[in-house]
This record gives sequence, structure tokens and C-alpha cells, in this order.
Amino acid sequence: MPQSTNLPTSFQFSQSSLQDFVDCPRRFELKYLRELAWPAIEAEPVLEHEQLMQLGSRFHQLIHQHLSGIPAERLTQTIDHPNLTRWWHNYLDHGPDFSGFQVSSEIPLSAALGGHRLIAKYDVLAIKPGEQALIIDWKTSRKKTARQWLQESLQTSVYPYLLVQAGAELNGGEGVLPEQVEMIYWFPEAPSEPERFSYNAKQYTADHDRLTSLSEQIIALGRDEEQSPFRLTADERRCRFCVYRSLCERGEGAGDLYEREELLLQEEELVFELDFEQIGEMEY
Ligand code: SF4
Repeated sequence: MPQSTNLPTSFQFSQSSLQDFVDCPRRFELKYLRELAWPAIEAEPVLEHEQLMQLGSRFHQLIHQHLSGIPAERLTQTIDHPNLTRWWHNYLDHGPDFSGFQVSSEIPLSAALGGHRLIAKYDVLAIKPGEQALIIDWKTSRKKTARQWLQESLQTSVYPYLLVQAGAELNGGEGVLPEQVEMIYWFPEAPSEPERFSYNAKQYTADHDRLTSLSEQIIALGRDEEQSPFRLTADERRCRFCVYRSLCERGEGAGDLYEREELLLQEEELVFELDFEQIGEMEY
């Protein structure tokens, strides 16, 4: 029986909300408990940031259309940006080989977690029922993200875990086994350098424990009515790319997009993932 909490009843756990909590509990509170929209920009220069987001969204849409059966030649004619043209041809020439797989794109899955739902929308699920289940995630940042960052991100836990929890319908009615799952991050800017993460029962158990623990921490903190127990992150570098920085008195100006990308390239740096990395969550 779920215990009472101030989390909205409609609240759903996702890799984004869990990552926000891990990165900065205060950010989680402002975004998901107080549902506070704050008008600050995330990164400078604004125009390039927005253009990157739009290109990422368009790339996801193109591949979704392609995997839904629209011929590549027709889609090619709709592209009017040189970067998108390059990404598209990198995908056509070097993209994952789906031969023999049942392929679904923009597929949502959910399962129970802490009295709420844990949800994810997969860019692509490629399944050979009873044999293999590939999770493909398109990462449309201009530079490839460091493997260690991906390894430690909540997405690399949530997506395989949820597929094992909730993927039976896509697997011929049989539960997906952890050993059948592989998570692949594919970068249109680095098409021959995907990052692959195999999965197994040990990792599945570890993810179950980690996700359960996080949900319990969040629900427990959400019960405090008097004073916010959601602390501000001690790592103020995160604040530079956070829309709430003026509210938290952690600075006014946005961080530099290019500097942000350089940080993501460095193994030891763990900073916020910009929203264009979350484009796979958008509805088309
Ligand atoms: S500005 Fe900093 S402390 Fe405030 S919510 Fe954002 S990351 Fe957390």
C-alpha cells in the first residue's frame, strides 16, 4: 500500500525526473512537486541551443517516419538543413542493422514503482522474440557524450530495467530476460562509434534496488509539509545550466553551450544533460 506523500497523484517517475533528483534534489522539487515554470534560458547562445533542439527533434521524427514505412527518398526531399542532411545520411549509411528484428519506434512502456508509475519512451526497440532485445537511443548532441557519463546516467538503468519489467507483449508474450537486452546509444555525429551496454540479471537486481531506493527517498522527502527538505546541489557547476538559478540565488546568466559540451566529453565530469538530450521523450 503506497504511503501518503505530497507528490501529485499524476506524478510519474522517469529517467529524467530521477536524474534531476540525483543531480539536485531542489531541482526535482521545483520541477515536479511545485511544478514551477521558470523563464530563464538554459544555455547561451540561445539561438544555437534552440536550433540544436529543433534539429534533434526533427531527426527523431525522420527516423520514426522511416521505421514506420515512409521511403527514405521521400523523407530526404523534406530535409532543408545541412546538419540534418549529414545526420540523415549517416543514419542511412551507418545506422543500426535491424535485419531479422521486429522494430518499433517511439514506444512507451511503464511499470509500478513506489505507488506511482515508472515510464519511458523508447526511440527504438528492436526485438527478436525470445532471443534478443535492442534498445536504441539517438543522441543528437553535436559531440559524443563520454561513455562514463552514459554508464552512470539513470537512463542506462531505467530503460533496460523497464523493458525487462514490462516488455513481454513485445517479446511474443514471454518476459524479456536481462541477458537478452542491450542498450545502444547512437550518435549521428559519430555514426561508427555507438556506445553499447549489455545487461544481465545482476545489473537488473542492482537497478531494481537503486530505483526502489530513489523512489522511497523522494516519497519520504515529499511528506515534509513544513520546510523543504530537498537540498540544493553542492556542485554549483550544475546551476549554470539550470533554469532555476536566479530563484536559488545561484547566478543570473546562462552557461555557455560549447563549454557545456566540453564538460560532457570529460570522463570525470557529471553535469546536467541539456534538454535536447531528452528529445526522445517528445511526442510527435
Ligand atoms: S539552480 Fe542549482 S541548486 Fe537551484 S535547482 Fe538548479 S541546480 Fe539545483
